[in-house]
Amino acid sequence: TDYSNIMGIPVPKLTMPETVARIQGVLAERKRKLFHVVTLNPEIAMSCQQDAELRGIVDGADLLTADGIGIVLVSRMRRNPLPERVTGCDLLFELLEAGNRSGWSFYLLGADEATNRRAADLIRQRYPGVSVVGRQHGYFDPSEDERVAADIAAKRPDVLVVALGAPKAERWIHARKDRLQARVAVGVGGSLDIVAG
Ligand code: UDP
Repeated sequence: TDYSNIMGIPVPKLTMPETVARIQGVLAERKRKLFHVVTLNPEIAMSCQQDAELRGIVDGADLLTADGIGIVLVSRMRRNPLPERVTGCDLLFELLEAGNRSGWSFYLLGADEATNRRAADLIRQRYPGVSVVGRQHGYFDPSEDERVAADIAAKRPDVLVVALGAPKAERWIHARKDRLQARVAVGVGGSLDIVAG
């Protein structure tokens, strides 16, 4: 893969269909090691300049996407353009489409309880081929981290959707990468609010 350098962070030059194909490939392999997708927005890229821990999380991600036109514009100014933006929200909808065709299971973590429940209900209606195997709102106490991680691990989702805001989602996934028993995990910002309408 060819990369574009965004403030020192190598972002692969992938279109949305290519990004989805990568993730489909991971899910087709049937292996259990968690594949962490980080949708890189300008705020995270900026924070990485001073925050070595966050930089380590981004460097350790299995796939980066250009979350927003700001990242794409930076790549164009450097004359090494990314093909298009691949935002967390658009990616979530594409994964639901692919999951609907392929029967993937999803776990929805994040947003407030009413939004999370409504997103789960709407996904079950609109994407009958998808199974929502678990869900958890995003305003639990840190003392419940272990319970939440254990619930996800018990449900063994194909795709763990983490809508806790950036970079909270990225930190949460990274710190539990070996325990979650999800196959793909992606931080999607406020996307469950959009799914729930
Ligand atoms: N959120 C959450 N728990 C928190 C903080 C935020 O579940 O402790 C949710 C919030 O309800 C919203 C999302 O995370 O659904 C954050 O969306 P936002 O658009 O602010 O995130 P960003 O796009 O900046 O990552």
